[in-house]
Amino acid sequence: MICDLIIRNAVMPVGGICDVAVANGRIANIGSKLDAKGPELDAAGNLLLPGLIDHHIHLLATAARLESADLSGLVSEDEVIRRLREAEQVLAAGAMLRATGYDERAFDLPDSRDLDRWLPDRPLRMQDRTGALWLLNGLAMERLGTGPWPDCVEVDERGEPTGRIWRGDAWLRERLGAELPPVAKLGSELARLGITGVTDTGAANGPSEAALFNELLASGELPQKLQLMGDETLPVSDHFRRGPLKLLYDERDLPPLEEVARRIDIAREQGRAVAAHCITESELVYFIAALDLAGGARPGDRIEHGSEISGAMIPEIVAHGLAIVTHPAFVHDRGDRYLDTVAREELGGLYRLASLETAGLCLAAGSDAPYGSFDPWLALEAAKYRKTAQGRVLGVSEAMAVERTLPLYLRPFGLSDCTSRTIEPGAEADFCVIEGSLQDLADCPDAGRVAATIVDGKVIYTRL
Ligand SMILES: [Zn+2]
Repeated sequence: MICDLIIRNAVMPVGGICDVAVANGRIANIGSKLDAKGPELDAAGNLLLPGLIDHHIHLLATAARLESADLSGLVSEDEVIRRLREAEQVLAAGAMLRATGYDERAFDLPDSRDLDRWLPDRPLRMQDRTGALWLLNGLAMERLGTGPWPDCVEVDERGEPTGRIWRGDAWLRERLGAELPPVAKLGSELARLGITGVTDTGAANGPSEAALFNELLASGELPQKLQLMGDETLPVSDHFRRGPLKLLYDERDLPPLEEVARRIDIAREQGRAVAAHCITESELVYFIAALDLAGGARPGDRIEHGSEISGAMIPEIVAHGLAIVTHPAFVHDRGDRYLDTVAREELGGLYRLASLETAGLCLAAGSDAPYGSFDPWLALEAAKYRKTAQGRVLGVSEAMAVERTLPLYLRPFGLSDCTSRTIEPGAEADFCVIEGSLQDLADCPDAGRVAATIVDGKVIYTRL
């Protein structure tokens, strides 16, 4: 048999050492000392797992963050100014400084004039830690041209822009021109972590994003498999899987339920599930009401984040058969903030894991990068101990062992049933090779264990 790849001497998750032969992007055969010809990868007695899927990421924003000043965790004005001025040193004259992760504990929400004081001689666009808000200084505002301004641009009582732009990413891209962030760099970072698939959850993904991702996938710049969420204008593609229609509404400004139900109808006509951004419980209640109005949920409908869920809501979610895509690493990345700012009695409902899994919900995991770390191994560790970056514990009763959390990264893209991908003939040939045994991994999950990553039988990362 001629194969695209033969992985030799791999330890299977169920035990035993096997060779795995890949043809046409799928597993053709598994056995000991297979008689097959083709390029070989010697797994050298390491563990072979299905490749991990990050079920919730924002690819372009994460790629852009790889070259942005990171302000996260800085809680004083002086620290923020220092970080901005350091980052500015390496930029070419006139280039705009992009900063992310701004924490309003530093200086509340500054306006253009405040930012001019922080960085007077260079255009600056600074994103807050939630990703909903961009803050621009005067030089950056000049590049936006003149009004009339769309709703996303906040104006003062005289109608002048304040420099605050709410959920205006698409409009900003249009006005400032899309500098393509380093997606190839992100693709190789993800490969180094054993990630073979990602779901981009951008609510505004439509024809132009589809064209961009088609190109990134065809050129191999993005070596992972991609599922793209988006709005009703997102076309189908030979390169990516068209995912659910994304419903993104803000609790402070919810549209009439009929409007959302109509969008759910459109998703059904397009053969798509829906995915709703649900941070607060009222957003969750609203989503379920909209689903009921639109004739009910269907398999693959999903709740993104599920950040706050009271015990009483869990049976409701189970009854609707909704999947939840959670972010286990948030406990590490954001836990200290939650412990400092969220009311004590509400802490138990934050980023639940074990209680949802025990209730029989279909859980999957994503990073929500760039708003959290995209390292799934850090997330497994955070799920295991529920420890924050400062070492405090958040919701210890929600902790789950690595063996229970890992399947959240092994779910197929569709989430329509709650299976985990396995290594068997006919399955897609997406793998990661992990140093050590399953027990070693359970004891100490760490990105350093990833020894190789394979997508469709192509090795996209190896240090074997
Ligand atoms: Zn997100």
